[in-house]
Amino acid sequence: MSKTTSINPYTNREIESFKTHTKKEIAEILKKADKRFYTWRETSFSERKKLMLAAASELKKNTQEYAEKITLEIGKPISQSIAEVEKCAWVCEYYANEAENHMADELIKTDAHKSYTKYEPIGVVLAVMPWNYPFWQVFRFAAPALMAGNIGVLKHASNVFGSALNIEKVFKRAGFPDYCFTTLLVGSDAIEDIVSNPVIKAVTLTGSGPAGAAVAQTAGKHIKKTVLELGGNNALVVLKDCDMDTTVETCVQARFQNTGQSCIAGKRLLLAEEISSEFIDKLLLKVRELKSGDPTDKDTFIGTLARQDLAEELEKQVRKSVKKGAKLLIGGNRQGAYFEPTVLSEVTQEMPVFNEETFGPALSITTFKSIDEAIELSNNSKFGLGVSVFTQDIEAAEKLAYRFDEGAVFINELVKSDPRLPFGGVKESGYGRELSSHGIREFLNRKTIYIN
Ligand code: NDP
Repeated sequence: MSKTTSINPYTNREIESFKTHTKKEIAEILKKADKRFYTWRETSFSERKKLMLAAASELKKNTQEYAEKITLEIGKPISQSIAEVEKCAWVCEYYANEAENHMADELIKTDAHKSYTKYEPIGVVLAVMPWNYPFWQVFRFAAPALMAGNIGVLKHASNVFGSALNIEKVFKRAGFPDYCFTTLLVGSDAIEDIVSNPVIKAVTLTGSGPAGAAVAQTAGKHIKKTVLELGGNNALVVLKDCDMDTTVETCVQARFQNTGQSCIAGKRLLLAEEISSEFIDKLLLKVRELKSGDPTDKDTFIGTLARQDLAEELEKQVRKSVKKGAKLLIGGNRQGAYFEPTVLSEVTQEMPVFNEETFGPALSITTFKSIDEAIELSNNSKFGLGVSVFTQDIEAAEKLAYRFDEGAVFINELVKSDPRLPFGGVKESGYGRELSSHGIREFLNRKTIYIN
């Protein structure tokens, strides 16, 4: 029997241990999930809608219970855990109301008497998910999948098995039939076998590049579709005509919310040289105000990182960058899994805080002299998830949007996910889209019907 233990990164104490599923148990669960598909796909949109709205109500009713587990498992400040659970209710409501429209038949005029495409579910979809938003990452997959008539099987990150079981509980409490959504308690070593199992029809993964490549390789061998949402190294491009005070606020949020552990966080601040000194002064004032502390305290904004090794990795990236000439303006120290909010200036493109993804509260600052230089700096990344551009000349920014090699360009706003908008990246940030009509259609068969 194998066990996985979750550790509270704030106290460094054990929370609980979970018995992981054996190969036999996994095979049994997948068989039952597959069987469930054939009855689940027969249900009407209105039946599914009722259940998905019940899931939303359950999330709203027991927000505190679910949020507390998130905070214990990954050190996320409780107010942000609560906001995360509430956002999950929103995505459930969104797909409960919109799935039928997104999957409506599309008539196409041809030589036929009638021809059209039908959107149909494909079966059991595996979700390999990360710990940084342990509820949101899963719900943004599960809500469209279940509304579409697919079945969800979750392999969650090994440090958030408590939340993984809570997600299963949400769907159970909402009244979904057994095996519509199941959590497998397994480590990443079990994934190759699971992806290879004929029951699994497709895989979605959110996480690091190596994890995405490993899963996509196995899926490719078995001709199964994947959607990958991997890392990001978003730039915050601040032009000299920005509204400085609101831009400072937004940049601080973009980098430091979720204690910096977000794929879409603004990690590289690219700043117009003319305003850099005033902007940095204002920014440092705001960063100093960020309240670090006990994640269970509702006033805490900066918690610990989810695991100590993640904080150690960030420490290395910061140290190496300072050695290469970056100027440490604030922070830079680690204590266990806690890492101080950190700002580095004079960052160049050879430094780890510029050319690697930093998954924690460290902001790098690089100045530019022209818009062309800013775009070049922004695009100088192996990732392409999103970019924020801050300016009062919105028309000009909109015209420049095509020059950014990104999945999203947000003007005067931090890059954020919204159930109504497609979400995903280019380059090594992955492929495919989540959310909106685009997300639900990733795991559907577009069946052509032709009537002569
Ligand atoms: P991982 O990518 O390793 O973990 C994400 C998920 O993938 C987990 O469920 C993990 O399972 C699983 N996984 C890991 N390796 C494999 C594999 N070879 N085959 C199949 N599944 C696998 O993230 P880490 O926790 O190691 O974080 C490292 C870095 O990844 C971060 O610093 C950050 O840069 C990036 N990351 C990006 C995220 C995003 O939102 N895009 C989210 C989290 C991390 P298990 O936990 O059992 O290993």
